Amino acid sequence: MCIVGGGYTGLWTAYYLAGAAPDLRIAVVEKEFCGFGASGRNGGWLTAALAGSRRRYAATHGRQAVLELQREMQRTVDEVIAVAATESIDADIVKSGNVTVARTPAQMGRLQATVAADNEWGDRDHVLLAAEEVADRIRVAAALGGSFTPHCARLQPARLVRGLAGAVERRGVEIYERTAVSNIRPGEAVTASGTVRARYVLRATEGFTAGIPGLRRQWLPMNSAMVVTEPLPSSVWDEIGWEACETLGDIAHAYMYAQRTADGRIALGGRGVPYRYGSRTDTDGRTQPATVASLTRILREFFPAAAGAKVDHAWAGVLGVPRDWCSTVGVDRVSGLGWAGGYVGHGVATSNLAGRTLRDLVLGLDTPLVKLPWVDRKVRRWEPEPLRWLGVHALYTAYRAADRLEARGRTSTASLARLADVVAGRD
Ligand SMILES: Cc1cc2nc3c(=O)[nH]c(=O)nc-3n(C[C@H](O)[C@H](O)[C@H](O)COP(=O)(O)OP(=O)(O)OC[C@H]3O[C@@H](n4cnc5c(N)ncnc54)[C@H](O)[C@@H]3O)c2cc1C
Repeated sequence: MCIVGGGYTGLWTAYYLAGAAPDLRIAVVEKEFCGFGASGRNGGWLTAALAGSRRRYAATHGRQAVLELQREMQRTVDEVIAVAATESIDADIVKSGNVTVARTPAQMGRLQATVAADNEWGDRDHVLLAAEEVADRIRVAAALGGSFTPHCARLQPARLVRGLAGAVERRGVEIYERTAVSNIRPGEAVTASGTVRARYVLRATEGFTAGIPGLRRQWLPMNSAMVVTEPLPSSVWDEIGWEACETLGDIAHAYMYAQRTADGRIALGGRGVPYRYGSRTDTDGRTQPATVASLTRILREFFPAAAGAKVDHAWAGVLGVPRDWCSTVGVDRVSGLGWAGGYVGHGVATSNLAGRTLRDLVLGLDTPLVKLPWVDRKVRRWEPEPLRWLGVHALYTAYRAADRLEARGRTSTASLARLADVVAGRD
C-alpha cells in the first residue's frame, strides 16, 4: 500500500488501515515533511461543516444520505478528539463550538437564512445569537448579531499532524519524507530514488494535486493566508472576552476565520491572493505584504482592543477546490488508484472521515461510510488557462465589491455576489 502525501488525509488513512490490517505493509511518501501542506498551517477549526453543497449531494443520493453525511461529520469531530487523547497527542484541543458574526445588515440576513437552512436540513443545534449574546462570548466591534453551533473544536494544527505522524509510525507504517512522487500510475508511485510498487496507490495531495502529471485541472489550488499576533496581555483579553475559545468567523463573501490560541494570541485568516496563474502553489508558505496588511486591518477592525498588538507570524497555504466545490473520496478497485480531498477549506475534520472511508474501500468492507454521498463522486475538470485564472479573479473581485457595497449599508446580499456564486458553480 502506498500513500502519496503526509498531511492529515494520508496520515489518517495510514492510521486506520494499519489498525484494521496490521499485516499490511504501508508506505507514506511525502515530498517535504509531514505537515508541510495545509495540515500544518491551517486555522485549526475542527468543524463538522460539510465540505460541499447539500443540494448537490442530495441530487445524486437523496436527502437521507445527506443527513447521514452531516451526522457522520458531527461524529468525526469527536473521533479526532478521541484519537488525539488515545495517542497522547497534545494539540490544544478545546471543543466549545463556533461563533459566526454578522457586522452588516446584509450579513445578518445571510446568517438568518443560513441558520434557517441548517434547521430545515435537520441541524437544530445551529442557533442565532443576539448582539448581546455574541458580546457575552466574544466582543467583536460592530457585531449586529451572530450564530452558534456546538459542532466545532479549536486545535493547534501542526501539533495534530506531527502527533499523528508519530502515532502512524508506532503502528508500523513507514514514512519517507523529502521524497517527491513525480508520477502516479496503476500499481506505481514514481520517485527520483525509485518506484514504489503497490496494489493500491492512494493520492492524498489536496491543494498540490495539480502538480502531478495528468491532474493539472483536477482541483484548483486556492490560497488562504493567516496572521498571528504576539501573546496578548490579560488587560486586552479582559476587553475581548473569548474565555471559551470558540472558533470565530464572519459571513462576509471574502470571509475571515480566527481562533484564540492556547498561548493567548489571535490567529486570523482570510483569502489574500486567491489563486496563482497556472495552478502554482505558494513558495514555502511565504505570503505577500498586501495580504498581511489586509488581514491585520481586519484584525484591528474586529478587535480594537488588540489594535496595538504586533503580528508575530504570517503565512499562506493551499487547499483543493473541485469544479463543483464538493469534496470526494474514492478507490478504483481495478486500477488500485484512490484519492481523497477537495475539502474547500473544511479538511481538518473531513480528512479523518476520508481516512476511515479509504480504509473501508481498500479492504472491501460494506460499511455505512462507503455509501455516503461524497464517495466516488465524479466531477468535471477546471477550465484551461487563462480562463481558470480570469474566472477565479473575477469571482473574488465580485465578492470584495459585494462586501464593500454591503458595508456601505446595502441591506440585502449584493446581486453581484449571487451572480458570482452561480457562475463559479458554488450556488
Ligand atoms: C491557511 C489555511 C487555513 C485553513 N483553515 C482550515 C480550518 O480552520 N479548518 C478546516 O477544516 N480546514 C482548513 N483548511 C484546509 C485544511 O487545512 C486542508 O483541507 C487539509 O489540511 C488537507 O489535508 P491533506 O492531507 O489532504 O492535504 P495537505 O495537508 O496539503 O497535505 C498534502 C501533502 O502532500 C504532499 N505532496 C504534495 N505533492 C506531493 C508529491 N508529488 N509527492 C509527495 N508528496 C506530495 C505535500 O507536501 C503535503 O504535505 C485551511 C487551509 C489553509 C491553507
